[in-house]
Amino acid sequence: MAIIVDKAKCIGCESCVAVCPVGAMTMQEGKAHVDTEKCILCGACVNECPVGAISKEATAKAAVTNTAGTDVWVMAELEDGKLAGVTLELVAKAAELAAKAGEKSAAVLMAAAADKLPEELIAAGADKVYVLTGPEFAEYNTDVYTNAFCELAQAYKPSAVLFGASIDGRDLAPRIAARLHTGLCADCTALDMDKDGLASWTRPALGGNIMATILCKEHRPQMGSVRPKTFKAQPAAAGHQGEVITFAVKNQVPQRVKLVKKEALSGSGTIKIEDAEVIVAGGRGMGSAENFKKLEELAALFENSAVAGSRAAVDEKWIGHAGQVGQSGKTVTPKLYFACGISGALQHLSGMKDADVIIAINKDPNAPIFQVASYGLVGDVNVLLPKLIEQIKAFKQA
Ligand code: FAD
Repeated sequence: MAIIVDKAKCIGCESCVAVCPVGAMTMQEGKAHVDTEKCILCGACVNECPVGAISKEATAKAAVTNTAGTDVWVMAELEDGKLAGVTLELVAKAAELAAKAGEKSAAVLMAAAADKLPEELIAAGADKVYVLTGPEFAEYNTDVYTNAFCELAQAYKPSAVLFGASIDGRDLAPRIAARLHTGLCADCTALDMDKDGLASWTRPALGGNIMATILCKEHRPQMGSVRPKTFKAQPAAAGHQGEVITFAVKNQVPQRVKLVKKEALSGSGTIKIEDAEVIVAGGRGMGSAENFKKLEELAALFENSAVAGSRAAVDEKWIGHAGQVGQSGKTVTPKLYFACGISGALQHLSGMKDADVIIAINKDPNAPIFQVASYGLVGDVNVLLPKLIEQIKAFKQA
């Protein structure tokens, strides 16, 4: 967009100068003049001009910065030297998207040493793996990873890049997007690609009340981050062939941040909710911190189980934020999800609705949680939970 002054029409009244909030309008030889460096295109001058001498005009759209871009990339992430679950999920999704556009899928691996990781990425669905190794990649470092990724992207020009919406991915993706002068759609919940390689990124917007689908038509690469467990990983296919491309970074950057010590957030032996097969979640309806503890008793009856909560439970400090399920917490897809005293607000449902089986306990028969529940128990958690625990114990002993 640009502000255009029709000098023939301008009567030199200076009303545009008076109204401009950033001092971009001046008078030159008795006529209005726009300082394009200062102008923020707010249109105040257009509305103020009494003779219609000022207008907003669309300028030619910026050209796609990288028209040669092809292939759907995934930034691989490691956890204790192993491929993170979200990486395997995204590699499978990237393969599906790339196939729609007749392109290839690729993974970008940065590690101290590659070992068998490229083969694992290929078995997970990647057609290509870009490998960057060296001691500087031993631990995630914002400066080093950003610099290396941008150099690689400028050399090989991807069409789209997927990042895990993990702690590292949320740090890295926006930096790379800014550096490459492109957009980023964070926390996508659905993704598609048309035959021309245009990705559609869907994510909750306006407090989760609508789902917005976002396109990045004018810039490449198209970029987005996706939460763990949003998509399903494919079983490893040993027969899938792929190409391994080694890349050496030319311009090294200094590391401004040094990792001093690593400490696990959860205590040893505790399963993260995103890895649990059975989740016992509680909401405000649990009533107190003491009642909330009863959920642990139910969880203890299952292997690979964890206790989680709604945001209301986190706000009450009955459980830490690491245990929050939902839009501003974590997305989980366990085999079994107990929702105890949880109303089923949209923001909660978006994080757990894809669980295989959902059992809800709520005293309100009209609670929205029952719309997604496989089994619903209407009643007081304080009465039903002990009964449920008793029944499961009896069943296990039988
Ligand atoms: P409530 O809505 O208060 O529901 C309590 C339920 O317990 C009720 O249905 C009630 O009938 C039932 N109940 C009460 N007493 C008993 C009893 N004795 N026995 C049985 N049932 C009982 N929420 C999340 O959970 N996760 C998120 O990530 C999240 N992100 C958000 C992001 C944004 C931008 C916004 C605006 C909101 C977000 N929320 C999130 C908040 C969400 O909108 C709800 O407020 C929240 O999920 C409500 O939690 P709740 O169901 O525990 O509490």
